[in-house]
Amino acid sequence: MAYSDKAKDFYKSELSGMHKAGTFKEERFIESPQAANISVEYPVGSPPKEVLNFCANNYLGLSSHPEVVKAAHEGLDSRGYGMSSVRFICGTQDIHDKLEKKLSEFLGTEATVLFASCMDANAGVFDVVLGKEDAMISDRLVHASIVDGMRLCKAQLYNYKHSNMDHLEEKLKETQDCRFRMIITDGVFSMDGDIAKLDKIVELAKKYDAMVMVDDSHATGFMGKNGRGTHEHCGVLGEIDIITTTLGKALGGASGGCVSGPKEIVDLCRQRARPYLFSNTVPPVIITAANKVIDLISKTTDRRDKLEENTKYFREKITTSGFDIKEGVHAIVPIMLYNAKLAQDMARDMYSEGIYVIGFSFPVVAKGQARIRVQISAGHEKEHLDKAIAAFTKVGEKYKILGKGKKEIIEMYGY
Ligand SMILES: *Cc1c(COP(=O)(O)O)cnc(C)c1O
Repeated sequence: MAYSDKAKDFYKSELSGMHKAGTFKEERFIESPQAANISVEYPVGSPPKEVLNFCANNYLGLSSHPEVVKAAHEGLDSRGYGMSSVRFICGTQDIHDKLEKKLSEFLGTEATVLFASCMDANAGVFDVVLGKEDAMISDRLVHASIVDGMRLCKAQLYNYKHSNMDHLEEKLKETQDCRFRMIITDGVFSMDGDIAKLDKIVELAKKYDAMVMVDDSHATGFMGKNGRGTHEHCGVLGEIDIITTTLGKALGGASGGCVSGPKEIVDLCRQRARPYLFSNTVPPVIITAANKVIDLISKTTDRRDKLEENTKYFREKITTSGFDIKEGVHAIVPIMLYNAKLAQDMARDMYSEGIYVIGFSFPVVAKGQARIRVQISAGHEKEHLDKAIAAFTKVGEKYKILGKGKKEIIEMYGY
């Protein structure tokens, strides 16, 4: 083995640097299914504690829904555990095709191709549809998986200031000579819960003859009246060229992702997208469960309606309790604390109060923008929300930040 002390020392010092900087990400062990109520072993080795979960992407509360679990069992029993193949060799079952068709219908697109994850969908799609004669023009705050996907593509890279339509227009003017241009954005941005201005983006795309690609991972299943996503919410259903999204959040939360859009693009992805060609097929148990999820959310909007109601209720109550939140309508509710240590300390105290939330600070968000990111779910009941609000109020009082805005909190705690 050529693993030298020099290398070992280097890796160890990298890790201890993270511990010192407070950026080391610790994992907590959950000893129950994913749900509003979970049992958590934290710190590791301590007896499990029952807490309310406010940090999962389980927006529709479907991660452990009995009908979804049942559909997964049925998939396991009827189609086995694994396929031991990529799609194009012997890894495609009829249920894969059925799910792809259902996803297209739900998203309002022509065709869909599944990937092992949305990360893989984003890693594959750009290189398939764009070449060096083309330009990718992305929002500056797009998800890391888009950043990586763009790196794997030879098209010229441009970006515009977050949600700044004037700046986007400038970039569209700058790139007039390219063969194809693609505007690239998240539908909902994960740290602030803010929504891309898709109506304006589509308008600019038409004016400048550009395509639009949206990663709707934080929206598919619940944004818009029928939960179709950000494009429905913004009134541009059928006008987005490419949608990528995940099965790993609202849609049952297991894993899997897709590229959805015009038939030619989807067909080309099947031929050329490298993560599709060279990585295993999504297993049958996930496919049958995801098929059930799409059926459930197509039949009724009850779950997304409940999520909307829960979100509205929580946003109102937490604001009247005196917290400074990022305004909006999304189930991601950032409670702004600005100071990294304050965010960590408050998250720890919330845990003692039986509420599981996480503090986010640099480098996950900009310096001086530390926060606790609360995520609401349709799996939460009113009493859960009330318990969280009461706990936040108690902890907020302890740190004397209730009724205080950015300036005052920074005066008290610094950045
Ligand atoms: C969560 C997320 C992903 C990753 O999805 P996976 O299916 O877990 O790989 C990609 N893009 C965005 C915007 C996300 O929020």
